[in-house]
Amino acid sequence: MPSELSNLLRLSALDTTLSKLAREVVATERSVVNQASHLEELERNIAAANKKQKLLLEAEQSCNRKMRRYQSMIETGNTALERGLGDAASALKQVRQCTSILDELENQTLDLIEQQEHLAASRVTTIQASEQARQELQTLRDSVETSLTELAGQQQQRAAERKQLRSTMDVELLDRYDLMQSRKGSAVARIHNNACQSCNQTVARHQIQELRQERLEVCRGCSRWLAPALG
Ligand SMILES: [Zn+2]
Repeated sequence: MPSELSNLLRLSALDTTLSKLAREVVATERSVVNQASHLEELERNIAAANKKQKLLLEAEQSCNRKMRRYQSMIETGNTALERGLGDAASALKQVRQCTSILDELENQTLDLIEQQEHLAASRVTTIQASEQARQELQTLRDSVETSLTELAGQQQQRAAERKQLRSTMDVELLDRYDLMQSRKGSAVARIHNNACQSCNQTVARHQIQELRQERLEVCRGCSRWLAPALG
């Protein structure tokens, strides 16, 4: 029959494994959430780029309309000048003003076209990134499902072992164990270099002797049960 000490150590090891498994489950689930929000961000960027592209195109079209208007005003002015109709000075002034506005509009149009080209290039990059992210998310979802099933299996198995083990242990010992676990996070501390690994308190030689006899010893520093040094 296993000693109280060996049961305690096994229980402590099982609890450590169980909390590690629980953390793994959380981290695994979080990885999917993170990847999904990464994808959402890329999709928002694409939507914003689409919207901006539409605005730039509208601005370009408006510039083109204005350019056509000024072009025709210039033509009207030139015709008047050629035919010697009306006030030549004011016709010349109109042609000059319109030409200057037209130049300005041409510059604006070129700038808008350039902006659209830049935007189109970055939009392509974002679309590629989002397609990749979508594929990664799918791969991740598949692998996560497998991992979670595997983790759940391990959790179930360890929980059953734990339950079985606890049923063979002293109730008062378990009460103290549970209290220590909840208050300090661990009820057992390993000895390392003749000191408690949790609180660094030196462990008396007679305590080490007692442990060799499979008897329970409590750390004088942190009140955890002591576990013999490894190796
Ligand atoms: Zn200690």
